[in-house]
Amino acid sequence: TASRETLGFQTEVKQLLHLMIHSLYSNKEIFLRELISNASDACDKLRFEALNNAALYGDDSELKIRIAFDKAARTITISDNGIGLSREEAIAHLGTIAKSGTKEFFSALTGDQAKDAHLIGQFGVGFYSSFIVADKVTVVSRRAGLDAAQAVRWESAGEGDYTVEMVEKASRGTDVILHLRDGEDDFLSSWKLKSIIRKYSDHITLPILMKKEEWKDGEQVMTDEDETVNQANALWARSKSEISDEQYAEFYKHVAHDFEEPLCWTHAKVEGKQEYTQLLYIPARAPFDLWDRNARHGIKLYVRRVFIMDDAEKLMPLYLRFVRGVVDSADLPLNVSREILQESKDIDNIRSGCTRKVLSLLEGMASSDDAAEKEKYAKFWEAFGAVLKEGVGEDFANKDKIAGLLRFASTHGDGDKQVVSLADYIGRMKEGQEKIYYVTADSFNAAKNSPHLEIFRKKGIEVLLLSDRVDEWVVGHLTEFEGKSLQSVAKGGLDLGQLEDEAEKKEAEKAADEFKELLDKVKGALGERVKEVRITHRLTDSPSCLVADEHDPSGNLARMLKAAGQ
Ligand code: ADP
Ligand code: MG
Repeated sequence: TASRETLGFQTEVKQLLHLMIHSLYSNKEIFLRELISNASDACDKLRFEALNNAALYGDDSELKIRIAFDKAARTITISDNGIGLSREEAIAHLGTIAKSGTKEFFSALTGDQAKDAHLIGQFGVGFYSSFIVADKVTVVSRRAGLDAAQAVRWESAGEGDYTVEMVEKASRGTDVILHLRDGEDDFLSSWKLKSIIRKYSDHITLPILMKKEEWKDGEQVMTDEDETVNQANALWARSKSEISDEQYAEFYKHVAHDFEEPLCWTHAKVEGKQEYTQLLYIPARAPFDLWDRNARHGIKLYVRRVFIMDDAEKLMPLYLRFVRGVVDSADLPLNVSREILQESKDIDNIRSGCTRKVLSLLEGMASSDDAAEKEKYAKFWEAFGAVLKEGVGEDFANKDKIAGLLRFASTHGDGDKQVVSLADYIGRMKEGQEKIYYVTADSFNAAKNSPHLEIFRKKGIEVLLLSDRVDEWVVGHLTEFEGKSLQSVAKGGLDLGQLEDEAEKKEAEKAADEFKELLDKVKGALGERVKEVRITHRLTDSPSCLVADEHDPSGNLARMLKAAGQ
């Protein structure tokens, strides 16, 4: 027809398609999970839009997903009666990748297939995974609210381009038709498809229907009767004892759009002022867009099992932006909007409940005697520690809890791994030591080799080595832990208290008199650039070092501010 257009894929789509087909070959059945997940998302979107416009349902308000196959045509069809796609939407969503972090993802690719397969997993595979098993994919879709004649047919062989044209479609929603590649006929079986659905998509809250089969004359034949293949009830609403770890993990992959297993989760029904269910997960790895302030974050909000919105950022503080999952409230109104959430006291309550829950999940791992749990915490810290640190300044109510979860590199070990907690540090304090000493620098090596450490090395006093960008923020907000104050070793009036060696101090005072003339000369030469020049006994190898005044910003912070143009 005249409306038929051939369009080229965005370069990134081409790259992704190529990679996917070649690297996910051993895991190809996931295409079904991805397409079912999209069908479910499409139904959620319709339900949400229909809250303000019930007419969108027309006479078809029972949302469902259908899987069918045709042995003769060698096709599998995934259908839903969700929101559908307009022609423009089909072009925008099925021809480009809009995900945040796309650029980072492509620049992280190595060309090494095994490594890249892993990256794809993290990035999320989505619709394009169809091409792992199909050499042609046809999407026929009609957007809710549009006429039968306004449907779109999108088709591609997964190479450079795709076509779109306007067609008729009798009902709302989307059919995705996969034309299987040679050798993929295994998928043309009820048994096979059902087992994949039960494995990956059991938690989908909508019914996933297939035609029932019957034995007739020793052969299986399709009947006209529908059968619901999945459990089709909200996973989070089931009791914990009925949910296997595999089911929890599959649900995570669905809500988080992640390909990997989660690190851990917490699932609870909360009763009291607010009644809600929370199922919150911590991913095993940092996403590509962890540092992108505009990246989507937050959790899915449901009200009495009805999906309300994705990425409800009000439900989690920013420093826990890596948490994924679901909150289902029994009390909020169904027509709650993002604007209402901003103001809602109920939401504040839910957020503090969820925050505490996540922090205790972390505490549980961190303080566990079980080596596997400890290992998990170390993994968590590596991925998200720098984000959690933001919480020290952001969440006053939980500051002490968060402080207890912090891990640092220190002079006690010799690597840059952040494994020392403040409690560990205090446990190793020298007799007479009253403070927790730290040094900040812009790299681990700079911190480790700081001349300020010389006196501490000599006296065998441990010093925390802080070199994450966020560390200045941490020490700016965390002035003490369990009654011990934190003290920068780079401040001028370094007072070692009882650790001070009287003899050394006397000697330094004597030297200060003796070398007064030299000090004046140095001060004269440096002029405005320094406040003061002093004799010190804190150095053992270096001839001199720079220190900041007690209440001035540290040298490292001053450098950071300068770099930021302030
Ligand atoms: P994601 O689901 O992470 O957004 P996908 O690659 O799976 O990424 O899907 C890309 C986009 O295509 C979706 O965001 C959605 O807009 C659109 N889409 C895919 N499948 C459907 C469907 N069955 N109904 C409506 N829109 C769909
Ligand atoms: Mg998807």
